[in-house]
Amino acid sequence: MAEKAFLVDTSKCQGCRGCQVACKQWNGLPGEKTEFFEGPEYTNPAKLSAKTWNHVIFFPIDRSNADRPIWTIMHKKCFHCSEANCLNVCPEKAIYRLDDWVVVDQDKCIGCGACVNACVYKVPELSEINHVNDAGQKILKRDKSHKCNACTLNEREIPACVSVCPSDAMRFGYRQDIIKHAQARVKVLKAEGFPNANIYGLDQFKGLGVLTVLRDKAEKYDLPLNPAVVDVVKTEATKDVYALLSSFTMGIPMLKRAAYKVSKSISKDA
Ligand code: SF4
Ligand code: SF4
Ligand code: SF4
Repeated sequence: MAEKAFLVDTSKCQGCRGCQVACKQWNGLPGEKTEFFEGPEYTNPAKLSAKTWNHVIFFPIDRSNADRPIWTIMHKKCFHCSEANCLNVCPEKAIYRLDDWVVVDQDKCIGCGACVNACVYKVPELSEINHVNDAGQKILKRDKSHKCNACTLNEREIPACVSVCPSDAMRFGYRQDIIKHAQARVKVLKAEGFPNANIYGLDQFKGLGVLTVLRDKAEKYDLPLNPAVVDVVKTEATKDVYALLSSFTMGIPMLKRAAYKVSKSISKDA
């Protein structure tokens, strides 16, 4: 488990989306053309994607009174799972740990989409475009998997999203300190009339690198309490078949993707 952790306290977030913009800016990610009401609820852009690695969602957590729904805010970015499905399924070892964070190596990625399918949080996405930032770095590569890298590649002491938060809703520090702070926040929220307040991420996938303070039960935020870990035996069987087939592909990504598809169907039948 990582020595450090992020904290997202959704009860303190004002929804200013400073973190979303800071992530775009620091990483040189392209903007997305959207209409104000295009996204679900009042959320724009509509979803986390290869172009948007940090996404603030605004949605009704309780619709029981249709005239007065109760709204909340939730953050989405890679949770940096200790036991990461994306990393475990990648047939090219393109996903690895850098300072304990889960990072994609685009040079190795063949765009097979295994990580996209395996992540229960729907985080990674294959880019449809190439994109070069102002400094001339190739930030997005077409047909490669992209997501938050915890600001490890474009290194800085405090991740960009955390550094700009004006309401102390985001923190970054030693995991034990983050947990202590989160526990204190949950205590306060319970005293304020939120009996179901909790911390998400302590147990899921052996501990997430991003812990989230919630006012209500995780399921209301579409967060699974017992997310499924990938079947290691099946995954390894697919990788073995792929290792054999990919040796005939001359390193051509398109052929490698086809080889992965075939490997998957063969190992499913095995
Ligand atoms: S949240 Fe998804 S993409 Fe991030 S580490 Fe976990 S499995 Fe991988
Ligand atoms: S798309 Fe395939 S090769 Fe690329 S990181 Fe995901 S699993 Fe690995
Ligand atoms: S840690 Fe860095 S890459 Fe990840 S969401 Fe925050 S700003 Fe973006």
